[in-house]
Amino acid sequence: MSFSKVSLSGFFPFRSINSLSPFRFSLPLPFRRVRTTCCTQNMSCSVSSSAHVEPKNTSTRWRPTCLYFTQGKCTMMDDPMHLEKFNHDISRDLPVDAAAFQRKCSQDLDFFLVLDLEGKIEILEFPVLMIDAKTMGFVDLFHRFVRPTKMSEQHINKYIEGKYGKFGVDRVWHDTAIPFKEVLQQFEAWLIQHRLWGEGRGGRLNRAAFVTCGNWDLKTKVPDQCKVSQIKLPSYFMEWINLKDAFYNFYKTRRSDATGMVGMMKNRRISMFGSHHLGIDDTKNIARVLQRMLVDGARMQVTAWRNPDSRTVEYLFEDRI
Ligand SMILES: [Zn+2]
Repeated sequence: MSFSKVSLSGFFPFRSINSLSPFRFSLPLPFRRVRTTCCTQNMSCSVSSSAHVEPKNTSTRWRPTCLYFTQGKCTMMDDPMHLEKFNHDISRDLPVDAAAFQRKCSQDLDFFLVLDLEGKIEILEFPVLMIDAKTMGFVDLFHRFVRPTKMSEQHINKYIEGKYGKFGVDRVWHDTAIPFKEVLQQFEAWLIQHRLWGEGRGGRLNRAAFVTCGNWDLKTKVPDQCKVSQIKLPSYFMEWINLKDAFYNFYKTRRSDATGMVGMMKNRRISMFGSHHLGIDDTKNIARVLQRMLVDGARMQVTAWRNPDSRTVEYLFEDRI
């Protein structure tokens, strides 16, 4: 797949890490560069975890990921200053400790595709992290910023400034965003490359499932965006794992601890990285909750199926978030 190159010479697309996050908590000490609030909630754990999933290279500070790189468009890979400032190795934030394999149970699926969309009016960001069910490790990332199709330029500019300006990534959004229809075409090529889906055959993913934080992404937002973009809802979006339902039913937590990503992370005492509501960072943090569940012995199952005829959704769990 080829991409048009963008000129990045002489500017950094991000603000300093010290100023970009509106919310963060409990970074391990080697990563702390700002004053943080520790996660001190002392929750009872129905399954205690001796295995630990935390970023490796603890002597190295956490760095924001290069959002040109995640979209295959970084042209500064030979610039030492750029490489020092921005992370170009996604697996760095998703390490798996060897001890984690002790409690792990076998999975019915080979891969998990962690997806966390951004954009309330139209989709603005489409990040998908591929996690190996056996090794629990990072395999690949598909990430695109998405340009709305039914909005005026003036509305888009205001929308993006409000959404991404506070993270300092509005420039990279404008440099890289493409329409949803093109995003899906590139995503399908990515699925085929990984043998997760067959274009000719249609149907479900091949031994893989999307993992989302809630039902909103695939129950509501993608079908809505497909209508706006005037495309048929693709067959691979018909089922998914709602991590909140899986988390709530596996750990038997209080409902309030499983209603969102931050609550689940606090409940498991997982430190949060990056900027909350930046899709790529949320996806990584959700993937880290998934990794913890796999470490703790959860067998992940699809929790929601869309009925293509009636357009209703059926659920695995009766007791849901
Ligand atoms: Zn880069």
